[in-house]
Amino acid sequence: MFRQITEAHLDDLHCRYDEASGLQSVIAIHSTRRGPALGGCRIIPYASSEEAITDAIRLARGMSYKAALAGLDLGGGKAVIMEPEGDYDRKALFQAFGRFLNELGGRYATAMDSGTTVMDMDTIATQSAHVTCTSSCGSPAPYTAEGVYYGILASLKAHPDLPESLKGVRVAVQGLGNVGYALCRRLHNDGALLTVTDIDHQRVEQCRKEFGARVVAPEDIYSAPCDVFSPCGLGGILNSETIDQLNCAAIAGSANNQLLTEQDGYSLFNRNILYAPDYLINSGGLIFVAMNYLRHSDSEMQRKLKNISDTLLQIFSRQNQTGLPASVIADQMAEAMVYGHEQTKLSA
Ligand code: NAD
Repeated sequence: MFRQITEAHLDDLHCRYDEASGLQSVIAIHSTRRGPALGGCRIIPYASSEEAITDAIRLARGMSYKAALAGLDLGGGKAVIMEPEGDYDRKALFQAFGRFLNELGGRYATAMDSGTTVMDMDTIATQSAHVTCTSSCGSPAPYTAEGVYYGILASLKAHPDLPESLKGVRVAVQGLGNVGYALCRRLHNDGALLTVTDIDHQRVEQCRKEFGARVVAPEDIYSAPCDVFSPCGLGGILNSETIDQLNCAAIAGSANNQLLTEQDGYSLFNRNILYAPDYLINSGGLIFVAMNYLRHSDSEMQRKLKNISDTLLQIFSRQNQTGLPASVIADQMAEAMVYGHEQTKLSA
């Protein structure tokens, strides 16, 4: 365990067992150098406590990187709850988790993640102030879509063969859920020509009717001719199988962990495809949640959302200067900011 902590440069790791509710939870605080650690709480039936600890540590580091590139005065952390087997009292479990949060005195604040709901966040809020994504907060998805929209505009600006405006630009969107659908609306309003896919037939039909989108089967989205490919469904979809099929000039979408491996970032670079690093371009939701938690103004939030575009342009410019892929540059910039190796100045 201590090897994992050292390798991940983790600040600290907290475990709590609460006998009355059956809570078994781990909170990993990766860094508080830039501010309190913010990150989601997931509840999953983990096979072992080792698995839960590994997940918390891995995800906490990602949150530090994401918050830093988004220009937030926050660190990164993550909580996991081992979902009890059989029936359990969910309210008592999340109340106990809220008390666990208080023990950390605000060094970590929690939010929604896999398996947790707005109602769970409301339950936590009855015990602790260190929680966001409650019912008074609202959905982060529209803000994630807005951040992706700014990311697409930055990609157009940076690519020598693409126009600066979205009018007539062909965008292929994979996944038409909360983020993908909102993004399609925005792109359509700006005159983009959409190609869409989803495994949910109703969502596809809605986009065809409302936005005049061309529809393709899920397996055909990779080879669909387009200027920008926007993955808004699943992770791991940029891999050795799909990258060869791509028929686009740029990739800019909301899905988490789009690159299956680090090598896939190099493959995109070698194919001359401009890639907007996922954890930067999809940080609009985090910005919204963070601004709510820190009680910052709407105008500050809008400034940070638009700033996703400027940060991306810096990454693309460094890609040109260094010959390293955007995915690697993003990690280097985030690490410099999180660990303070160099004075990286974002315009946030
Ligand atoms: P969602 O569950 O609302 O939508 C996902 C969509 O992808 C669904 O419509 C689903 O049917 C579709 N899909 C699933 N498998 C598919 C396949 N094989 N081919 C095509 N479509 C498929 O999720 P969301 O909130 O819109 O988030 C989309 C992505 O963005 C996810 O990867 C999520 O982790 C990431 N993300 C979301 C947010 C947010 O604020 N919601 C923030 C950051 C990152």
